[in-house]
Amino acid sequence: MDPHNQLETTVTGLNQLARNLWWTWNQEAQDVFEELSPRAWRNLYHNAVAVLRELSGEELRVRLLDGEFNGRVRAVLRQFDAYLGATDTWAAAHAPRLAKRPVAYFSAEFGFHETLPIAAGGLGILAGDHAKSASDLGLGFVGISLFYREGYFQQAIDAESWQTEYYSHLDPKNLPLEPVLGADGQPLVCTVEIAADPVSFRVWAANVGRCPVYLLDTNLPTNHLHFRDLTRHVYGGDDSTRIMQEILLGAGGVRLLRRLGVEPSVYHMNEGHAAFLTLELMHERIADGAGFDGALAAVKQQCLFTTHTPVPAGHDRFSRELMDYAARHFYKQLGVGKEELMALGRVQPDDTGEPFCMTVLALKAACAANGVSELHGRVSREMWHSLYLGGTVDEVPIGHVTNGIHLAGWMKGPVRKFWRRKLGQAESAVDWAEELSKPEFWARMEDASFVSDEELWALRYRLRRELIEFARRRLQDQEHRSKPSDFIAFDHLLNPDALTIGFARRFATYKRAPLIFDHFDQLVGLVRDALWPVQFVFAGKAHPRDDEGKRLIQKIIHLSHHSELSGHLVFLENYDVHVARQMVSGCDVWLNNPRRPLEASGTSGMKAICHGCLNLSILDGWWREGYDGTNGFAIGVDAHSEDVVEQDRLDSENLYKVLSGEVIPCFYERDESGIPRAWIAKIRRAMVTLAARYDTTRMVREYTQKYYQPE
Ligand SMILES: *Cc1c(COP(=O)(O)O)cnc(C)c1O
Repeated sequence: MDPHNQLETTVTGLNQLARNLWWTWNQEAQDVFEELSPRAWRNLYHNAVAVLRELSGEELRVRLLDGEFNGRVRAVLRQFDAYLGATDTWAAAHAPRLAKRPVAYFSAEFGFHETLPIAAGGLGILAGDHAKSASDLGLGFVGISLFYREGYFQQAIDAESWQTEYYSHLDPKNLPLEPVLGADGQPLVCTVEIAADPVSFRVWAANVGRCPVYLLDTNLPTNHLHFRDLTRHVYGGDDSTRIMQEILLGAGGVRLLRRLGVEPSVYHMNEGHAAFLTLELMHERIADGAGFDGALAAVKQQCLFTTHTPVPAGHDRFSRELMDYAARHFYKQLGVGKEELMALGRVQPDDTGEPFCMTVLALKAACAANGVSELHGRVSREMWHSLYLGGTVDEVPIGHVTNGIHLAGWMKGPVRKFWRRKLGQAESAVDWAEELSKPEFWARMEDASFVSDEELWALRYRLRRELIEFARRRLQDQEHRSKPSDFIAFDHLLNPDALTIGFARRFATYKRAPLIFDHFDQLVGLVRDALWPVQFVFAGKAHPRDDEGKRLIQKIIHLSHHSELSGHLVFLENYDVHVARQMVSGCDVWLNNPRRPLEASGTSGMKAICHGCLNLSILDGWWREGYDGTNGFAIGVDAHSEDVVEQDRLDSENLYKVLSGEVIPCFYERDESGIPRAWIAKIRRAMVTLAARYDTTRMVREYTQKYYQPE
C-alpha cells in the first residue's frame, strides 16, 4: 500500500475504533487516545470519540507521521481487527445456533463506561459487563435499551451537605454511538403504541466489541413533547413515565428487532422492566391466528427472566387505571378483556384490587427464571411460591446464576500493565484479555516466584497513593464551590500509609452505609490510633426521591467535617464507574454491610479482587459463596435474625469485632522488612479463589449452558 493510502486507512481505522467500546477494555487503545491529547482525555472524561474530535484532520495525520506512534496505532488496529474477525471463539464451539439466531437481552439500563452514563447502579453495570463478555466469547447477542439523552443524574453536594441533582446533555455525536440507518440511508424510524398514540422512535447502536446494543430514542419532532421526554432520564418521572418507558423498551424493542431482520432464539429479560416484550411477542402470534393461551405457551418457550432483588420497591407495580391509560392497546392487540390481561400481572388473578406487577408477568411468560446468587435464588423461590401452588418451595422454577464482572474492563490501567509485564511482552493482547478469565492464570498468584510479596505490596502502595491523590483533587473541587478552601489542607487529607476502607454503592437504606458509625466512640479510637490508623472513603448516590438515603449521605459528610473522624473520613461526590474504579483499586478493604438477605448478589466487591483489595462483608449474595475463611473477612455468620433491629445491632457489633480483632492486626503486623505477610497471603488467596469465578466470562457461559442453548 502506498504511504498515503496507508495513512488514510489508519485514520479511518482510528475513527472506527473510537466508536467501538472495545477500547474501554484494551489498554493499548486507551494509551493511544490519551497520548493524542492528555488534557482532552482527562477533561473529556476518557472519551475517545471526543478526543478525536478535538484534533484537526491535519494534526492527526501529522501525528501519525511519527513512525513509533504510527506503529503502535497500527498494532492496536490489527488487534481490533483480529478480535472482530475471530472465528475460533468459545461460542463457535459451544453455541453455534446462537450465531444466526442470537440472544436478545433487554435491560432498562446499561453501564459501559463513564462517558455514557445511562446506568443507575449495579443492574446496569451488570448488563454492560454481560454484553462485553458475550462479545469476548463470540456469542450471538444483541442488547436492547433506551437512549436517555440526559442520562442518570449527576450528584452535587450543597453547603448543607444535601445531595442535589443535575443533568448533563449527552450528544450522540460525541459518544461511542452510531445512528441506525434504514435501507434508504436515512435514520431508521419505528413506532409503538403508547396510551392513545403511536410513538415514533429512532435508534442508536453502541458497538460493544462484536455485539450491538440498540438504544431507542423518542426525541423526534413528530412526537408530542410528552413522548419526546420519555427517553430523557434513566427511570425519570413518575409511574406514568415509568410504564411508558417500559412499553417502549419491551414492545418497541421487539418491533425494532423485526425491522432489522433479527430473529432471536431467546429473549432475556434483565429485571421486570422489560417484561412487556412478552405481550408484543404474543401480539405477533395472535395476529398470525393463534389464541391467547396458545400464544402465551409459544412465547414462554423463548423467554428467560432474571430477577435482581428481593426488595419490594424493586418490583414495578402499576395500577389498573395506569394500565387502562398507558397499556390499553395490549387489550385489543391480544383480543382480551382488561381483567384477563391484568390477571397476567397478578399473583391472585381474580383479585381485582391487585395491581399489575411486571415481575409476575415476567415469571408467567418465561420458561425459566433465575436469581443472581444461590441465597437469592432460594429467597426468590419463597417470595414467589404463591404463583406456583401445588408444589413445594423447592419446586418453584427459579434457579440461580451468580453475577460476575468483566475483569478486563474493570482492571485499572497500572494493574493491567503490571500483570501484562508479569506475563511477558511476547503474548499478544488478545490472548491476554482471554488469559485473565482463566482460573489457571490466577492460580499462579500462589507462586511467589511468579509475583513476590514485595512486588504486590509495592503495587498496593501505588494504588492507595493514586486513590488518595484522586480523592484530594476531587474534594478540593467539591468543597471550594461552597467555601474558599485551603489548598495545603487538601494535601494533607488522608494518610497514604493508613489502612484504607472503602464503601461505595447506591444509598439504598438496606445497604446501611452508616452501620460502621454505630459504635462511634470505639471507631474513633481505631481511626485515631497513632500506630495502626484506619481511614474511610465513602461515595454513592441516593435516588432523587429518596430523602432517607440523602439523610444518610448528609450524616456521613457531617461526620467527615465535624467529628473526631475529620481528616480520616471523606465522602466523594458523584459516584460513577470512574470513581468506582479508583476506589476498588486504591482501598485496602472493601466494606459491604447490607441487611441480609436483601443484597441479591452485589458486584462492587468483585471489582476489588484483581487489585489486591480485600472484602469485608456480610455473608450475603456472592460473598456467602465466595468467602472460604482465607480470602477476605466475614461479618457475622451464614444466618440472620428476622428481627431487623436485632440484626442491625448484631451486625454492627460483629463488624466492629472483626475490624478491630482481625482486619487491623492482619494489615499492620509486619515482618522485619516491613511486609505484612499474612495480609498478602490473603490477597493471593482472594485472587486464586475468586478472580476467575466472579468474572462475567464464567457467568455468560453459565447462562448459555443452562438457558440459552442447553446441551
Ligand atoms: C459496581 C457498581 C455498582 C454496584 O455495586 P454494589 O456493591 O453491587 O451495589 C453500582 N454503581 C457503580 C457505579 C458500580 O460500578
